[in-house]
Amino acid sequence: MALYEGPVQALIDELGRLPGIGPKSAQRIAYHLLKVDPQDAKRLAAAIVDAKERVSWCRRCYNFAEGEFCGFCRDERRDHHVVCVVEEPRDITAVERTNEFRGRYHVLQGAISPIEGIGPEQLRVKELLARVTAEEITEIILATNPNIEGEATAMYLARLLKPFDIKVTRIASGLPVGGDLEYADEVTLGRALEGRREVDA
Ligand SMILES: [Zn+2]
Repeated sequence: MALYEGPVQALIDELGRLPGIGPKSAQRIAYHLLKVDPQDAKRLAAAIVDAKERVSWCRRCYNFAEGEFCGFCRDERRDHHVVCVVEEPRDITAVERTNEFRGRYHVLQGAISPIEGIGPEQLRVKELLARVTAEEITEIILATNPNIEGEATAMYLARLLKPFDIKVTRIASGLPVGGDLEYADEVTLGRALEGRREVDA
């Protein structure tokens, strides 16, 4: 027998499928949503539906985009010869906060992780390689997270990019090891970008 009325259990189940939400949090959020003003709950539901309908992936860099290309790819003032490779769209926000980068991005949509069964074929790797020649890229900055998965991904990409006649750099160490770019403050991340070094692959 289910512990809750059907719709309540369904809500808890759906919330529990979200990343970082365990069973207890799912229950807490479900209670909260059932207590709030119906308008507030409807606004949340509408925001989810609206975002799913209007936002997809940028055809060039795989950032979020409303339309074909994201704002960074549409911005003609940005240097399209330099591309900063990140794991997730949220990492773009972290890099932008530093004010140290004026190029374009490429979002891998994850990192190589054998434990989670994520290999290069699940990431936007071929799409990155296709861009190198098509967009006359001269430098690729590997700004994956400073943890095991991020480092492995950076080394993998550096080896793949070796045959191309371009500069491949990795953001400098000094970032908190094991952390994510999004948790680095803009000064530290700015220095890491500035101090990037060519990768020996
Ligand atoms: Zn884009």
